[in-house]
Amino acid sequence: RSRAKIIEAERPTTRFADIAGYDGVKQEISEVVDFLRNPSRYTAAGAKGPRGVIMVGPPGTGKTLFARAVAGEADVPFLSVTGSAFVEMFVGVGASRVRDLFDQARKRAPSIIFIDEIDALGSRRGGGTRQGGNDEREQTLNQLLSEMDGFDQSSGIVVLAATNRPDALDPALLRPGRFDRQVTVPLPNQAERAAILAVHARDKTLAPDIDLGAVARATPGFSGADLANLVNEGAINAVRNNRTRIDPHDLDAARDRVLLGRRESSNALL
Ligand code: ATP
Repeated sequence: RSRAKIIEAERPTTRFADIAGYDGVKQEISEVVDFLRNPSRYTAAGAKGPRGVIMVGPPGTGKTLFARAVAGEADVPFLSVTGSAFVEMFVGVGASRVRDLFDQARKRAPSIIFIDEIDALGSRRGGGTRQGGNDEREQTLNQLLSEMDGFDQSSGIVVLAATNRPDALDPALLRPGRFDRQVTVPLPNQAERAAILAVHARDKTLAPDIDLGAVARATPGFSGADLANLVNEGAINAVRNNRTRIDPHDLDAARDRVLLGRRESSNALL
């Protein structure tokens, strides 16, 4: 198994402008960008820059997108892993993979490490039902904590993490000097839904009578991922009917499809 598949290093070109809405989140997280652009400005002032930021929010709200945009805005390498991949794929070697990850980040610093689904790795200790998996997880988590504690601030590495289960996080992760900042990424409101729809409609041809504001009103509870999906399904529906232009009923059909898909995937969880 190649480790490159798990620890991916890229240089994203995503920018904040690619993310519709969420001005508050952009503002909160822009300090990370500032730090990565010039870590020495912080160390010269004796200031501790951000080390770890946890983004909390429901699935599909753009947490990964935000992490990539921070890398794009700061123009730094982006190393990403998924918590569950660590736990499932590296039985017995999780801790050494974490060490590996931080070594790579140090080599490329200033850089970003992104850990998606950090709850899989840093869930509350003790009382776990999956015995046997717990030791492994704990060792991996401890290695992560010790890497973060050992950060040389001037190196300019920031760890971003995402979860939709903040209640499941091990409190040790949230201590000062670790993930001591939390940013909430909620579901988009109506205006934000309209803006997200517009971003995803940018490279498509819409019939002039399509009203994205009306679509936004009709999609409460949709995440950014759902809305991206809706626009794409609308385009697919048009293609099915040998059109390149998306008509209003394509979006209606797409909305039903996305709703159905969401219901099925939540049933699958039961
Ligand atoms: P998960 O928790 O399921 O990993 P996530 O919060 O990391 O989800 P992303 O994977 O970043 O969500 O978002 C999925 C996709 O939804 C993005 O690639 C993008 O196409 C779209 N999207 C989400 N939010 C926005 C937004 N605010 N503006 C534009 N597109 C968005």
